[in-house]
Amino acid sequence: MGDPKAFLKIHRQEAGYRPVHERITDFGEVEQTLNTNDRRLQASRCMDCGIPFCHWACPVSNKQPEWQDALYRGNWKEAYEILSSTCDFPEFTGRICPAPCEKSCVLKLSSDEPVTIRENEAAIVEAAFREGYIKAVTPKRNGKKVAVIGAGPAGLTAANRLNKKGYLVTLFDKAEAPGGLLRFGIPNFKLNKNIIDRRMAFLKAEGIQFEMGVEVNLQNLPAGFDAYCICVGAETPRDLSVPGREFKGIHFAMEILSQQNRILEGQTFPKDKLINAKGKKVLVIGGGDTGSDCIGTSIRQGALSVTQIEILPQPPAGHNSATPWPQWPNVLKTSSSHEEGCLRRWSLTSNQFLGKNGKVTGVEVEEVEWIPSEMVVVPP
Ligand code: SF4
Repeated sequence: MGDPKAFLKIHRQEAGYRPVHERITDFGEVEQTLNTNDRRLQASRCMDCGIPFCHWACPVSNKQPEWQDALYRGNWKEAYEILSSTCDFPEFTGRICPAPCEKSCVLKLSSDEPVTIRENEAAIVEAAFREGYIKAVTPKRNGKKVAVIGAGPAGLTAANRLNKKGYLVTLFDKAEAPGGLLRFGIPNFKLNKNIIDRRMAFLKAEGIQFEMGVEVNLQNLPAGFDAYCICVGAETPRDLSVPGREFKGIHFAMEILSQQNRILEGQTFPKDKLINAKGKKVLVIGGGDTGSDCIGTSIRQGALSVTQIEILPQPPAGHNSATPWPQWPNVLKTSSSHEEGCLRRWSLTSNQFLGKNGKVTGVEVEEVEWIPSEMVVVPP
């Protein structure tokens, strides 16, 4: 493990965000980085617990204590080798994972100062790219061909692993470029698209073929493959079927987010298709991460004001006894976008959209009380 007493002497230090007044003028990544020395000090805080709850909480089963130790010792290459043994693309998770590992860290329980696991992860993979530890390796082919349908995070991961095992992989996607929600859902201020392009260049060099802009019909799959791996995701939005939904000016989150990302790539849209919040009062319905992404996007587009409403009650700040450690805590979360200027209201349901001349002008909301249903005990 790192320094056995570091967690007693060194406090958690986050790299933080660029200043609000600066970052809302562009779509560049908001998160900053620590210098190498401070990053290693942060890694030294890991206690290498007997039972690493961070590992338990991580959706890709990362071996956090092992790579924190390598990072602390300054062995970045070893740290990347351990990290990449479980995580195909740490440059994505290191930026946009909500980091359940940190909520389960023992230092979260004891001092509310968990190890900066996610940031350390991003630092390791960035060093690996910078120092050339990541190299394109073309595997020995096994003579089989696999078509992976869908080039989002699941499809990319499946393609990467199959390719490493020697299958000749072709990735199909209806979008013009690979990445799925990474490219067309996550705003650039959280994940710059050159981070995706950098990894795609390696996947291509390792022999994965990309067929982008191709609609694949599941009834008529592309011919010539030994197997097909379907990784198409779930793109159907959940509608809000209330009166007035037909008014102009009501959009699904993905329409806004994907269009903005495409504009940043240089695409243009006709005026009647363009969604832009400049000079508008924006209401975001839904208090989750996607709603937060719409807030940051609207602010950068020049919205006059942004309000976010949520049907659930405001969660407590800091600690919630209903979701004790090491569970994911249901507590108040303030994202970088919230910090940029947004009014937040809770316990509101939307009854109907109001409009004039076919355009939305407001939403009629009603305060609701959240009453959990009583537990039903089924007799044996
Ligand atoms: S940030 Fe996410 S992917 Fe990375 S170690 Fe934590 S839980 Fe796992």
